[in-house]
Amino acid sequence: MTRLDPHSYNDANQPDVAHVTLALRVDFAARTLAGAARLRLREAGSGPLDLDTRELAIRGVRSSDGTPLAFELAPPEQEVPWLGSRLRVNLPAGTREIVIEYATSPQASALQWLTPEMTAGGAQPFLFSQCQAIHARSIVPLQDTPRVRVTYDATLDVPRPLRGLMAAAFVRREEGGDRAVEHWTMPQPIPPYLIALAVGDLASRDVGPRSRVWAEPSVVESAAWEFAEVDRMLLAAEKLFGPYDWDRFDLLCMPPSFPYGGMENPRLTFLTPTLLAGDRSLTSVVAHELAHSWTGNLVSNASAEHFWLNEGFTVFAERRIVEALYGGEMAQLQAALGRLDLDAALKRFAERPQLQRLRTPMQGVDPDDAFSEVPYEKGYLFLRTIEEAVGRARFDGFLRAYLQRYRFSAITSDDFVRALEDELPGVFDQVEGRAWLDGAGVPPNAPPPRSTRLDNVRALVQAGRVPTDGEAARLSPTEWQLYLDGLPRPSTLCAELDKTFSLNASRNYEVLASWLLLAIDSGYEPALPRAEEVLAHVGRMKYLKPLYRALAGRKETRDLAGRVFERARHAYHPIAQQVVAQILS
Ligand SMILES: [Zn+2]
Repeated sequence: MTRLDPHSYNDANQPDVAHVTLALRVDFAARTLAGAARLRLREAGSGPLDLDTRELAIRGVRSSDGTPLAFELAPPEQEVPWLGSRLRVNLPAGTREIVIEYATSPQASALQWLTPEMTAGGAQPFLFSQCQAIHARSIVPLQDTPRVRVTYDATLDVPRPLRGLMAAAFVRREEGGDRAVEHWTMPQPIPPYLIALAVGDLASRDVGPRSRVWAEPSVVESAAWEFAEVDRMLLAAEKLFGPYDWDRFDLLCMPPSFPYGGMENPRLTFLTPTLLAGDRSLTSVVAHELAHSWTGNLVSNASAEHFWLNEGFTVFAERRIVEALYGGEMAQLQAALGRLDLDAALKRFAERPQLQRLRTPMQGVDPDDAFSEVPYEKGYLFLRTIEEAVGRARFDGFLRAYLQRYRFSAITSDDFVRALEDELPGVFDQVEGRAWLDGAGVPPNAPPPRSTRLDNVRALVQAGRVPTDGEAARLSPTEWQLYLDGLPRPSTLCAELDKTFSLNASRNYEVLASWLLLAIDSGYEPALPRAEEVLAHVGRMKYLKPLYRALAGRKETRDLAGRVFERARHAYHPIAQQVVAQILS
């Protein structure tokens, strides 16, 4: 037995699944997807085939000619319950294809079923999936590891008033009676965590030759306006990283409970509605998800132990896109924010230094529990360190060669080192790459962010005062964040800030979150109702985690945190519920 991914029962000695055909009926009343998955193997196999599942009701397994096949569904293992249940199918000699009939659990960890009240329109239910890191197994029985890429085609049988979207190429929609069947196909091989679907009352607007924005009808106009610059972004990214390989780059603006800022589902990026600031100031998240089209979706981490290869590279690529579109100062300001987030994450992991490493040992660790800014921002800094050492032109040459060499494959940190050695011999040792990959903390050769505007913000923080009206008028939302995040806690400036700049009313969720954290840490009570409102309305973990931590961290607000969570948790995604419960426990 050879298990190469600590988060999968996949046995590297068994045949790989190459293609999946899904036929699923979406049942909002039962909160299940039910149907069949037909798995085609890369080559004919025999003997045991181990698949990942979580809480799936397996109704039967048969060969492609209909012969029932023996299978065994193991109970989840006590020490690693997040892996789910191993499904072992015994393949008769020469088996090329099997069909698994199954239904998902109403608690499937990849799915969130929203009641109509939890949507913007209020009339129709909504369903969406979030499979990263290891939740695909809760909706499809397969080898749920990025090492085994699959192509797929799928039919979604949905209530007729709704659209069923997938992160794939649209084929057709057929309507009959009160149901509609949507056909989708994914011709490029993807890691299973990129399988994605959403079902709801959805409308769309074209915003470019390759891009369309989807959202609930009442949100679609503002979403189309906010993301109108997506084609400029695509062109800038192609200039930096080479041709875009996925045909379309559509965007789906999700309901507020979406747990992430964005998810880079290929051809259809999922985005939180907290990006709709009304001034296009938060579109760096779009740049991030777009950059994943190269780093992550094209070149994928082989397991969560090498997550930095997805996220560190993507933050680097995101800031290059931001620089190309909005200038170097903006990229540096965002890097400065990233550094603050990284330092906070390192502090949280003070007792678990193994989670401060880029190459993260994950045996016995739930990837949702280990999730932090470390692979993002420390990974970014490692790449910046290499870029500083060799210069931009040579680094860009490496980046192109790396993307070309590993496209459509899953790689480890060692594969990265091999490519680096081949393209830029000696630089790995020169920048002390070993310390970056396998050491805790941030090595001292990390380049600091450099920007005049950053210096100005720091001067303001150092002076311990609120900005004048003139200064405030020149502050971008990113600078506001840096200012608010930089103020020492507890701060005596809260009342003055609140009065002068009405920060409680900010439409920019990043600024609002920074303000609320400062206010909570400073015991500034007038901000608490707004914090409650945000926690009740938004399910994005980037805000839930620090806000709950801050509330729970002070004895005056600890009970409030518990009360708000009890009231709001039903509206959170299952992953977010679990993460917040852990913070409050
Ligand atoms: Zn990312």
